[in-house]
Amino acid sequence: MSLNKKSVDDINVKGKRVLCRCDFNVPLKNGEITDENRLVAALPTIKKLIADGGKVILCSHLGKVKTEEDKQTKTLAPVAKRLTELLGQEVKFVPSLEVVDDTVKAAVDAMKDGDVILLENTRFRAEETKNGEAFSKDLASICDVFVNDAFGTAHRAHCSNVGVAGLVDTAVVGYLMQKEIDFLGNAVENPVRPFVAILGGAKVADKLNVISNLLEKCDTLIIGGGMAYTFLKAKGYEIGKSLVDDSKIDYCKEMMAKAESLGKKLLLPVDTVMIEDFPNPIDDPSIKTEVFDADKMPADKEGCDIGPKTIELYSDAVKTAKTVVWNGPMGVFEMPNFAHGTIGVCDAIANLHDANTIVGGGDSAAAAIQFGYKNKFSHISTGGGASLEYLEGKTLPGIACVNDK
Ligand code: AMP
Repeated sequence: MSLNKKSVDDINVKGKRVLCRCDFNVPLKNGEITDENRLVAALPTIKKLIADGGKVILCSHLGKVKTEEDKQTKTLAPVAKRLTELLGQEVKFVPSLEVVDDTVKAAVDAMKDGDVILLENTRFRAEETKNGEAFSKDLASICDVFVNDAFGTAHRAHCSNVGVAGLVDTAVVGYLMQKEIDFLGNAVENPVRPFVAILGGAKVADKLNVISNLLEKCDTLIIGGGMAYTFLKAKGYEIGKSLVDDSKIDYCKEMMAKAESLGKKLLLPVDTVMIEDFPNPIDDPSIKTEVFDADKMPADKEGCDIGPKTIELYSDAVKTAKTVVWNGPMGVFEMPNFAHGTIGVCDAIANLHDANTIVGGGDSAAAAIQFGYKNKFSHISTGGGASLEYLEGKTLPGIACVNDK
């Protein structure tokens, strides 16, 4: 869905109360923010709303809130402090365990054009994750316009990203959300061809719909990671003690047949890096690894990465691509011994000069950043679950709920 949705560029917020749902779900240690990427990423939309003279009311969730103690530790207070520094203007924190109450309403009433306030963690209200009407109404009561700029939660229908949107006249997306929609939407719905999709990660079961949807959209589908072994078993190969989803073997056969009938290339590993047993400690560099061809895997070993011939095969397949979407590591990339496949594929994509290259969130985004490729892709999605559901071809409620152009 390359989307026809209204954005902050399509509206006039002068003098209006604008509720902006951001993703301020940052990691905290002893009350200190340890990674502020998400705050920095939210600034363009916030600055635009300030510059246009809106009364900017920011909100976000932070972590999971299950106990009363969580309400002490998962406060957004540190975010208000850091945002104040980043914006060079006060972001007034109006904490309330109810998120919206009379004190908050009074603070909103006192706002001048261009002022910014931040509400408390939206998950302090139990209805938030159930999209309960009372909280959505409370949020709608303090705003005239709603801006959704939180892609990471777009696959969930909660009060602060979906419920409130249905109760205000004007609901639009922010720049971050727009960027995700433009990149992921164009790549999948309108790709410049050849379009190569690369899927990895642990389990076939987690990516059933992604495999099926991308097979229809792409020209070549490359499979690596733990899920490749279920495909290899479906081909009749011995896979030893490697990760397998026995209940998905028929599904893999179906996908291989689907690729053939659609005339699409489906690439599987031709060799694999194996070990005897998982080492202890898990990152033991002296662990003995062996490479076997995919049709010669011994019964007593476990596959942890794609082998060198496969890296070459996959890198070659990527070379002529004009669009690449990558989701999921090629091996147990957290351990240096088994990171070669993921680095190899990452490197091949990063070296394309004239292609739209997209990393679809989650572990592959973490890997691309960890291995130093942060600025080498056209786009690294900020949402793990959300980008995966997008690649499945699903309509995301957090996008569907904003106004069409
Ligand atoms: P996912 O969340 O499905 O993208 O899976 C990511 C996880 O898959 C990472 O933690 C990897 O360590 C794991 N993984 C990748 N390849 C393998 C493999 N061959 N065996 C076991 N786990 C794997």
